[in-house]
Amino acid sequence: MSDKFANPRNAAGGSLRQKDPKATSKIPLKYFAYGLGASNSITFSKHSEFLKEISKWGFIINPLTKNVSNLEEIQKQHSQIDTLRSSLDYDIDGLVYKVNDLNLQKRLGNTSNSPRWAIAYKFSAEKAVTKVKDIIIQVGRTGAITPVAKVEPVTVGGVVVSNATLHNEDEILRKDIRIGDTIKIQRAGDVIPQVISVETSKRKKESKKFIFPTKCLCGAPTSKEISKTTKKEDAVRRCTKGYECKFIAREKLKHIVSKESLNIEGLGKKVIDQFWDLNLIKKTFRYI
Ligand SMILES: [Zn+2]
Repeated sequence: MSDKFANPRNAAGGSLRQKDPKATSKIPLKYFAYGLGASNSITFSKHSEFLKEISKWGFIINPLTKNVSNLEEIQKQHSQIDTLRSSLDYDIDGLVYKVNDLNLQKRLGNTSNSPRWAIAYKFSAEKAVTKVKDIIIQVGRTGAITPVAKVEPVTVGGVVVSNATLHNEDEILRKDIRIGDTIKIQRAGDVIPQVISVETSKRKKESKKFIFPTKCLCGAPTSKEISKTTKKEDAVRRCTKGYECKFIAREKLKHIVSKESLNIEGLGKKVIDQFWDLNLIKKTFRYI
């Protein structure tokens, strides 16, 4: 399970989307019942009443659910759960506070995409300290050269992290991130972890500033475009070879087959990589 999915949310979603219900039934999914869809012949006046009742029926409700009555208690509950967070055997990124009175919930109603009677109070992003093993560059489908820090594997928010994004050349310069540095990273949601700070006190004397490569992985020179509107130099360096760059071509192919584009089932990023390495595909034409 953990090999197949990036995080618990994807694992739960992916498991439920299996075409064969027998396959789904084999996956040990557990859930906390937390809300009412529809009901008839039984009415509740309070959300807490509803939770109490369904737990009698055998539904598992979260034992950490609590009634709070003012801002102070909201804050207290938030910090208490935050300290418990790492000891829970499931991942959470925050708490949801709901109006307990169901009549008031009805009166408050919903906006176009969320209820007015419930609000999420997120925890700050999880952080961890690790070491930069290497800084590599990746070439995107638009030719953008993105630096990535290869870090010593560390667990952040239940996920083992071995890469951190460095955004662009300026970011490395501004934060003076070097190979061998001890860094603090943070991970919020599904995004690739970011580097928050460098612990320069832990830096070795022989450490050298990272010199950003001026060439693409294909060997062609890179350049920063000048924006027509602001007349400022773009922060992103790009390969100048365009469609002729094989690294760009490979990324373009991955995009073409992806869900966002032609959505070709069974032909994903990994297969493109394999075909590419086997020399079965080599070109992206301009008209696609
Ligand atoms: Zn290139």
